[in-house]
Amino acid sequence: MARNSRKLDERPEAADLGSLAGEEDADRSAQNASPVDEARIARAVREILAAVGEDPDREGLLETPARVARMYAELFGGLHEDPRVHLRKFFAEKYDEVVLVRDISFNSMCEHHMLPFMGRAHIGYVPNGRVIGLSKLARVVETVARRPQVQERMTETIAHLLVDELDAKGVAVVIEATHTCMTIRGIRKPGSLCVTSAMKGIFRSNLSSRSEVMNLIYGGRQ
Ligand SMILES: [Zn+2]
Repeated sequence: MARNSRKLDERPEAADLGSLAGEEDADRSAQNASPVDEARIARAVREILAAVGEDPDREGLLETPARVARMYAELFGGLHEDPRVHLRKFFAEKYDEVVLVRDISFNSMCEHHMLPFMGRAHIGYVPNGRVIGLSKLARVVETVARRPQVQERMTETIAHLLVDELDAKGVAVVIEATHTCMTIRGIRKPGSLCVTSAMKGIFRSNLSSRSEVMNLIYGGRQ
């Protein structure tokens, strides 16, 4: 591990430094105003059941369309949230070494198959005078994950958000995920892991900075 770097992923007490009163209320009212058309989803699910040869009026399936509709409203809730709000409450800090949060777990939905993919995101950045609460990084991942997604775009989106909102000197995002569209159908390769990364600023231009952050992400692992 490189000198001067600090791993902050084991400091949960620092996780809520950035929360301000009222934020949770704002989140909740945004959810209540969800524009997801659940009745329309329910009709579509009923159609799918009929199309695959099931009887949608069979007792065990009666509640299924409405249940699936509520589930999709939750899984795609990120479409109606702006992840930038989580990055706009920063502190002015002189700290200019790597800040890394690793193993942020997430669930998302592959937009090609409408099947879940799940895994972990690791986010590192070098502040340029702006530091955010560590939990905000997890909130950004959560919002971006709850949309129809592909892992490559999810990785790039998170990196760009940090570059834009924090003006960070460097941003590194690495995502590792298992895609159920590869494990339960098609090629059926359980255990396969897809890894994507996006390197911006000094993590892109400077090889030693990049290997430093990759060591922080993977160092000490078996
Ligand atoms: Zn897929």
